[in-house]
Amino acid sequence: MRTQIAIIGSGPSGLLLGQLLTEAGIDNIILDRVGKDYILGRVRAGVLEEGTVRLLDEARSAARLHAEGLPHDGFSLAFDGRDHRIDLYGLTGGKRVMVYGQTEVTRDLMERREASGAATIYEAANVTPHDFDGRSPFVSYERDGVTYRIDCDFIAGCDGFHGASRKAVPKKAISTFEKIYPFGWLGLLADVAPVNHELIYANHPRGFALCSMRSATRSRYYIQCSLDEKVEDWSDNRFWDELRRRLPAHHAEALKTAPSFEKSIAPLRSFVAEPMRFGRLFLVGDAAHIVPPTGAKGLNLAASDVHYLFEGLGEFYGDRSRAGLEAYSQKALARTWKAVRFSWWMTTMMHRFPDTGDFDQKIQEAELDYLTHSRAASTALAENYVGLPF
Ligand SMILES: Cc1cc2nc3c(=O)[nH]c(=O)nc-3n(C[C@H](O)[C@H](O)[C@H](O)COP(=O)(O)OP(=O)(O)OC[C@H]3O[C@@H](n4cnc5c(N)ncnc54)[C@H](O)[C@@H]3O)c2cc1C
Repeated sequence: MRTQIAIIGSGPSGLLLGQLLTEAGIDNIILDRVGKDYILGRVRAGVLEEGTVRLLDEARSAARLHAEGLPHDGFSLAFDGRDHRIDLYGLTGGKRVMVYGQTEVTRDLMERREASGAATIYEAANVTPHDFDGRSPFVSYERDGVTYRIDCDFIAGCDGFHGASRKAVPKKAISTFEKIYPFGWLGLLADVAPVNHELIYANHPRGFALCSMRSATRSRYYIQCSLDEKVEDWSDNRFWDELRRRLPAHHAEALKTAPSFEKSIAPLRSFVAEPMRFGRLFLVGDAAHIVPPTGAKGLNLAASDVHYLFEGLGEFYGDRSRAGLEAYSQKALARTWKAVRFSWWMTTMMHRFPDTGDFDQKIQEAELDYLTHSRAASTALAENYVGLPF
């Protein structure tokens, strides 16, 4: 088999890149080690920046997003029993975010891909990129005990944090930077109206909480938990009680509950691999970087990587210029590190760390008080939350 771009990974970055390429007439094949239903069963991100929505428009995969997504002009920061609105729209001169689940983004991209007839190989085992240092890279994979080979011009490693692409790079060619946070997020999904029409990020002495949603009838709630917690130990009732304790009284009273249909614990980490290009192999999205979900940046960073790579590939096939591909790593990393900083800052300000004492709690509350009463500080938060330009 031969294609122009072999894309490893059928998550948001692989699917978005694949669809932009397909719409531009550039041939590509996507490979994933798991099946479509498994991918669609993963509950993850839910807040899209305008730049991400723009790319989904370019990929002609945003019709349902515009019909069903929830535009949000602000969110609440809750602390010390109070609630302060960050007016994203007003502070950024008219920018907003769109609440629309990652699962739905993935479904829309998969449907568009199927309609356009581009090839996807699911349940491909031992997917491995080869010879990306030379002029003739290829990807091998196995299915039903048979080994196949796809020759290509370039390989896009969109296979997430645990994927094969980054691991294929010689250790001496890559530097990694990592921070592991000493807690996780216990998330619950339930078909019940959200407690508030906008997201609530709550700082509380018992730990962080986030009230978010997927639609007007589906809520996604999180509470900070310790890393040795087990999901089985958290009945729905225990979760709802703990969430109520961490919210200002008026929200706790208004909270409606329903049986959960998904509950999971996610560890939090910041991670960056540098560079993001190795000859003809490009790392994209979670394959190159991870951020804690506090600033809602993971999926959006994957989208900006896709933008830079798609631009570079377009220049290569359109003008035979390599400039965009050569600049990919530098451009993507510059934006990545700013999002890593923002996510780390929000995580640090909103969570209770094992060594957070009364003094540190007061400092967090003073920072939040300053943030919510200084227009300059609120603007910096809003500008980062809606997404830095790309
Ligand atoms: C539990 C969890 C909760 C999250 N919550 C949020 C959130 O609330 N907000 C937010 O902004 N972000 C969140 N994120 C981050 C966000 O989901 C990711 O940033 C986003 O999924 C990145 O997309 P991606 O396509 O780069 O990687 P992925 O979504 O990880 O996709 C990678 C794809 O590659 C495939 N793959 C992996 N290894 C191989 C291999 N060896 N061969 C072939 N295929 C392979 C996988 O099956 C997968 O389909 C969360 C992530 C996790 C794990």
